[in-house]
Amino acid sequence: MIASNILSFAKCILSEVLEPGCIAVDATTGNGYDTVFLSRQVGINGHVFGFDIQEDAISQTEDRLDEECVPVNWTLFNTGHENMLRFIPEEFHGKVNVVMFNLGFLPGSDKSVITKSETTLEAIKASLSILNRGGMLSIAIYAGHPGGDEEDAAVRGFCTSLDYHSFRVIQSEMVNKPGFPIRMIFVSKL
Ligand code: SAH
Repeated sequence: MIASNILSFAKCILSEVLEPGCIAVDATTGNGYDTVFLSRQVGINGHVFGFDIQEDAISQTEDRLDEECVPVNWTLFNTGHENMLRFIPEEFHGKVNVVMFNLGFLPGSDKSVITKSETTLEAIKASLSILNRGGMLSIAIYAGHPGGDEEDAAVRGFCTSLDYHSFRVIQSEMVNKPGFPIRMIFVSKL
């Protein structure tokens, strides 16, 4: 079902932008599901760059990409997404079609390893600079866990302040979820 989970909803939106040959970034590879999606969408003539600070997440993503027999069109970096300008080769700057962020902690893993406002904002700014015109950034934001509310406020505050003539920002929210909200932000670069 398209919107049974907010990330499948996000993927439907991103599919409109992603075509074979595109360049995509998974800024938080985690368990690798989003990396698999991006790899399939861009195909053998495209490329996916993935980032995660946890070595386990990187190897889990690698295993999943192998198991799912996706095209060999990916490069994973075991480093923070705030370093993406240094790790993604310059030839791709300004040519990236999609950047995906899935914030918070990795379910089933160390819940103390979380994305943090300061580095998240740095990485969001870097993402906006490497997107092409028409490219899209998607950010799944989770409130509720320690540090989550602050990150939620910081990310939404930053995205809300983006210049309307340069970017369009759309927010979706799963409004009937019990407990803490999950929000999706989409930023299109004009
Ligand atoms: N909360 C989501 C999953 C988020 S996974 C859900 O419920 O599905 C978030 C991933 O971001 C984790 O694997 C974590 O290791 C990674 N991460 C944390 N800080 C990071 C950073 N600075 N750069 C890249 N990845 C980071």
